[in-house]
Amino acid sequence: MALIVKKFGGTSVGSIERIEAVADLVIRAKQQGHQVVVVVSAMSGETNRLLSLAKQIDDRPSARELDVLLTAGEQVSIALLAMAIVKRGHSAVSLLADQIGIKTDNIFGKARIQSIDVNRLQQELEHNRIAIVAGFQGRDIEGNITTLGRGGTDTSAVEIASAIRADECQIYTDVDGVYTTDPRVEPRARRMAQITFEEMLELSSLGAKVLQIRSVEAAGKYNIPLRVLSTFKPDSGTLISYEEPKVATKTVSGIAYQKDEALLLVRQLPENPHSLAKILCLLANYDIEVDMISQINHQGGKIDYALTVHSNEYAQALDVLTTNLSELDASNVDGDQQVAKISAVGVGMKSHSGVAGTFFDALAKENIHTLLVSTSEIKISVLVEERYLELAVRTLHSAFSLESGE
Ligand code: ADP
Ligand code: ASP
Ligand code: MG
Repeated sequence: MALIVKKFGGTSVGSIERIEAVADLVIRAKQQGHQVVVVVSAMSGETNRLLSLAKQIDDRPSARELDVLLTAGEQVSIALLAMAIVKRGHSAVSLLADQIGIKTDNIFGKARIQSIDVNRLQQELEHNRIAIVAGFQGRDIEGNITTLGRGGTDTSAVEIASAIRADECQIYTDVDGVYTTDPRVEPRARRMAQITFEEMLELSSLGAKVLQIRSVEAAGKYNIPLRVLSTFKPDSGTLISYEEPKVATKTVSGIAYQKDEALLLVRQLPENPHSLAKILCLLANYDIEVDMISQINHQGGKIDYALTVHSNEYAQALDVLTTNLSELDASNVDGDQQVAKISAVGVGMKSHSGVAGTFFDALAKENIHTLLVSTSEIKISVLVEERYLELAVRTLHSAFSLESGE
């Protein structure tokens, strides 16, 4: 008998039929003798629908009220799933995050979980009831409702798994595992039976939305085996753990892309060490995270900076920089939202040369221009115009022969 946390994403609970199928799946696990805690997302499309209602009132709605609104989606799905389980003659109880004491910091829209009070969950387990917890939400120290960022139910599930010391955290979704790239973009992508936390962390941070990055961070930190598997097709999925795959690893194990990236160009600053520091401190004051950075030095002691931020934060970042142009001593700020970041990831890169050559050669053959470049020991990322996204992903996937097995 194992203690398992099962998380179901939006598509998995996207209709009444699917909720009924999830109820059957959960009951089967129970009948096999496992103890189960379930964590669910809102029905697919619901969070976006709520978001668009808010945007009809205010393009930049109050962050506190937005979190109150967005958590409504999960309240619906936990209740419906609990009803479906109860109707089948089993004991289940739906619980909002606050009811199991999920405490977060107070950064609305991307709050971090600080603690979970396991008493209530333990009581439910002792009474043999299936607890169905609302993902994506928490409560700050002042009692405000918070959300954990898009895709945050993955993180709720891992944090709960760690708090109750579960044997495994299973992320059920609409694909049957982690692939060498998004199978929606490259149908020839191959499923990986196993992947290390280190590689999954890079893939998630570079856009592979199959797992929210914070869930991978948390699972790695607490050493919780994490498994991605399909709600619709019973199979063993992909296991993410510290164990290196037994077969030889390729230099590149996956290609990720990030559409939600926006480019900012701050031009004609004085060329001194303070210019970039000022830009970054200004943005940090508004909790705006900067991703890629590059500089172009001009003759005459002037410098331009190009940086990328999440597209959610683009309007605010542009606003902050424009308002502070004279303090920055820059000539102007503009940007572009029609850009995408494409990355190749692989722990094998550490020990192999020539990966960058293959990468840029493949893009050059397709005449794909790169706007920004950044690299680390185990990844290469480029920013390209968004219209090249699919072509770039497929080109790189094939350049590193990812469609063929190990
Ligand atoms: P859920 O609603 O279940 O949380 P998501 O839409 O957040 O599901 O994540 C699943 C999706 O992630 C898949 O449908 C797939 O298109 C996308 N995806 C992106 N990169 C990958 C990858 N490397 N492997 C598998 N799926 C990926
Ligand atoms: N419902 C939230 C979202 O759409 C959380 C999640 O699905 O994980 O982002
Ligand atoms: Mg998700």
